[in-house]
Amino acid sequence: MDIAIAGAGPAGLAAALFLNRAGHRVTVFERFEAAQPLGSGLILQPTGLTVLDALGLLDDMLSRGSRIDRLHGSDAHSGRTVLDVRYAAWRGGRFGLSVHRAALFDVLFGAVRAAGIAVETGTEIEALDHAGDRPRIVTATGRMLGPFDLVVDASGARSKLKRHARRPCEPRPLAYGAFWASLDWRGDGFDPHALVQRYDKASVMIGVLPIGRPTPDGDAQAAFFWSLKPAQAAAVRAAGLDAWKARVERLWPETRAYLDQIADFDQLTLARYGHHTLKFPAGRGLAVIGDAAHSTSPQLGQGANMALLDAAALAYALDRASDVTTALEAYCGMRRWHVRVFQALSAALTPFYQSDSTVMPFARDRLVVTVARVPPAPQILASMVAGTLFGPFGRIGLREVDWRGI
Ligand SMILES: Cc1cc2nc3c(=O)[nH]c(=O)nc-3n(C[C@H](O)[C@H](O)[C@H](O)COP(=O)(O)OP(=O)(O)OC[C@H]3O[C@@H](n4cnc5c(N)ncnc54)[C@H](O)[C@@H]3O)c2cc1C
Repeated sequence: MDIAIAGAGPAGLAAALFLNRAGHRVTVFERFEAAQPLGSGLILQPTGLTVLDALGLLDDMLSRGSRIDRLHGSDAHSGRTVLDVRYAAWRGGRFGLSVHRAALFDVLFGAVRAAGIAVETGTEIEALDHAGDRPRIVTATGRMLGPFDLVVDASGARSKLKRHARRPCEPRPLAYGAFWASLDWRGDGFDPHALVQRYDKASVMIGVLPIGRPTPDGDAQAAFFWSLKPAQAAAVRAAGLDAWKARVERLWPETRAYLDQIADFDQLTLARYGHHTLKFPAGRGLAVIGDAAHSTSPQLGQGANMALLDAAALAYALDRASDVTTALEAYCGMRRWHVRVFQALSAALTPFYQSDSTVMPFARDRLVVTVARVPPAPQILASMVAGTLFGPFGRIGLREVDWRGI
């Protein structure tokens, strides 16, 4: 089949590799002139790592990332632990791998190039045209591309193509976002195998995540983040860098080693979060995957992993069905429950960490943390963070990696 993919993020690049491997003629269209990753770091969970393994890219990725065994959060004032999730609580030797986005992009894009897949950059996709039997793509400059047997929308949360899905919807903006920066890794007082966070109620969250190396011969880095409302960013900037740094350091003195690396607010990227879930992520001749199909806050760390699972599921569905319409129905069915459960969990848990509520963080610090220690809670939490609740693998033709051999 002739397949067009809109977007060269994790979803689009992984889909291109799976579909090319299945023998389809694939073209990736990316709006940027030079395809490039945005943002800082992210955690690849056992789900996303299993997809990368199916693509033959696991070893490459492992060599670039930082193994994560634990997520740990504590109250900034009392020092009391209020979040402690260990992957090892679930049998099988699972772990997360935190990576710089550039490293994930490099590994996927390198494989796309090596496979000879066509990538057209500087092409912003605007809409689908259904005048003929097969869909065409309309670009922002009015060019008409195609026709194609299938268009895959992997253009992220602000996708314009998703309005052609059977039941479209748009992301609802979330009150809180964050400042993010990639900085040089400083080990003193920080665990190289943990995401560590400090909270003050739910209105302040500071995090340090080791993210390995953006390039194979580069230095190790950390993602540093400070949660805030995008609406307050201008006021924070106006008050000055020193005032902001002093506030962070008061809450978490060890972050000094990171704050010293920030000389300008320009080093901090303001990330805005939204939440939406397409009930049926497909339309006529259209599959919607990744953040275009479902976006959320990164609190649970699943977005890129969900995107990789979607890509694998779409290719598996196309492989097994006799026509595109049947394959799209199957793709939606394969991913439905896993996506809905994690979107619901993310929507429910985010306000415990990012909101103006005083009740939710109080419950988090007193009640939830106690319950979380009693079996089987540690096991369930480990499986939730790993993204493996409700077994996403079998139904999309994947088998989880045997982590003990790694
Ligand atoms: C601060 C932050 C931290 C995060 N942390 C984690 C984490 O720890 N773990 C995790 O799994 N996820 C995390 N996520 C979520 C993760 O980044 C996303 O879920 C993931 O990038 C989605 O991949 P995607 O390919 O669907 O979309 P994107 O990564 O958004 O890629 C979309 C691509 O499409 C291109 N594009 C957009 N519009 C058009 C158009 N009209 N025409 C052509 N091309 C277009 C874009 O330029 C881009 O290249 C985080 C997100 C943020 C913001």
